[in-house]
Amino acid sequence: MRFFNPARAEPDHIVLDIDGRDVRVEVRRNARARRYSLRLPAAGGGPVLTIPERGTFRTAQRFAEDHRGWLAERMKTMPAARPFLAGGTVPLRGVPHFIEHRPAGRGTVLVVDEEAGPKLVVAGDGPHLPRRLTDFLKKEARADLAEAVERHVGALALAHPSARRPTGLVIRDTRSRWGSCTAQGKLNFSWRLVLAPAFVLDYVAAHEVAHLVEMNHSARFWNVTNALFPETEHARDWLRRYGSDLHSYG
Ligand SMILES: [Zn+2]
Repeated sequence: MRFFNPARAEPDHIVLDIDGRDVRVEVRRNARARRYSLRLPAAGGGPVLTIPERGTFRTAQRFAEDHRGWLAERMKTMPAARPFLAGGTVPLRGVPHFIEHRPAGRGTVLVVDEEAGPKLVVAGDGPHLPRRLTDFLKKEARADLAEAVERHVGALALAHPSARRPTGLVIRDTRSRWGSCTAQGKLNFSWRLVLAPAFVLDYVAAHEVAHLVEMNHSARFWNVTNALFPETEHARDWLRRYGSDLHSYG
């Protein structure tokens, strides 16, 4: 037998009309939330409205309506999604590459330099183009990060002979962090770093390698990072300004 549960029957989203466009707002209940809140995560994924424990869906709807102007403004300043499509562009190591689809041939991706600018030629079936391109970029990211990590680990070993070696390198699609280092010494990185200029990826690799000797963000940690990678401030500034743009691709 099924019982009607009003909490369960609650819709999981609200549709707001913003400048004539239907915008889906995810609705989430959070028992720890103190009040209603509406936010637009910088990492993408659309607006999210939080309902506090004793809140109601009806109030949430009104809250969303009241903040429609704010949301419209925020959405204008957010980078629009840029899917991987033939005819579009994607930056590779900070350089825009034109995306060309070549249906013939097996599913390979070639980097071709042309007078009009570099391009990525993706072979194979059209529907698979976004996945192929993503796989290719992940592979490039892994190669660049493996090289950078190895180089920084070598430099770290000279300055800190007792430094640990990394126990693994994992490439993922993290939304909140560009890289991380586990207590076991495993390094994780976002594949999207390969879209940024090369010095940015190099910095994030140096940052995570520095965590092999300093598992914190103390002054000592930043000294190690700066010694490994003198352009650290420049790269951090780049990520603060343009980092969220990297999430709009694909
Ligand atoms: Zn860190």
